[in-house]
Amino acid sequence: MQRRKTDAVVLHRADFGEIDLIVTLYTADLGKVRGIAKGAKRSKRRFVNNLQPFSYIRVVFAEGRGGLIRVDEADMIHPLFRISEDITKVLYGSYFLEMVKEMTGEKESNPRLLELLVTFLTVLNDFPAREEYPRVFELRFLDLIGYRPRVTECVLCNQALSLTDQAWFSFRHGGTVCKKCNNNALGAMAVSAETRRAMEGVLSMDLAAVQELRLPPQVIAEGREIIPRFIQHQLGKALKSLRVMEAVQGV
Ligand SMILES: [Zn+2]
Repeated sequence: MQRRKTDAVVLHRADFGEIDLIVTLYTADLGKVRGIAKGAKRSKRRFVNNLQPFSYIRVVFAEGRGGLIRVDEADMIHPLFRISEDITKVLYGSYFLEMVKEMTGEKESNPRLLELLVTFLTVLNDFPAREEYPRVFELRFLDLIGYRPRVTECVLCNQALSLTDQAWFSFRHGGTVCKKCNNNALGAMAVSAETRRAMEGVLSMDLAAVQELRLPPQVIAEGREIIPRFIQHQLGKALKSLRVMEAVQGV
């Protein structure tokens, strides 16, 4: 089998027997892929514990049959060990990883998605945790996988919504609806003009300085009510890490 190299983030790992590991990676070349690392629990030399969730690594691998790759080596590109030292960082980071793991298809390459994930894990590692990060990540991730929420017009009649118009967010239609189109059957949630404007800004902002972004608390609170519910609607189930986050933060 031909050996190749690609950059990757470890999304998940599980023991496989006494000495092997099964890892789920998001890679630059293959998108999401599962791999087996033979002897990884025994061989400190080849993997040096680099196959942990959140690790940003360069892997040497070979494609096998049945879709599973064989991971032969894993070198750290950039250590992100400070994420695991802070419970809020772990919660946010786990949420990013689970979103990518659950909402992307196997072997659908999207290098911009890896870039997004690395950007946010690095910010989480380097700066104090802020709730702006999960809120921004959600929107940018949805955009990259083709679910960009439409918030500047009504998704049903296409009428432009000004900042003085009332609007509701429809989870089923993935965007805002106007007063004329909204009805109880839609189950849509009222969304303020300020939040709509912030969402649009977040969807087009340069992420190079995302650590400096400060959103008003009411915008963050509204985003927290709307976007995770939209994700849940798309996915057909709740993300486990989101439930843990809500449980911990509700204490
Ligand atoms: Zn309308």
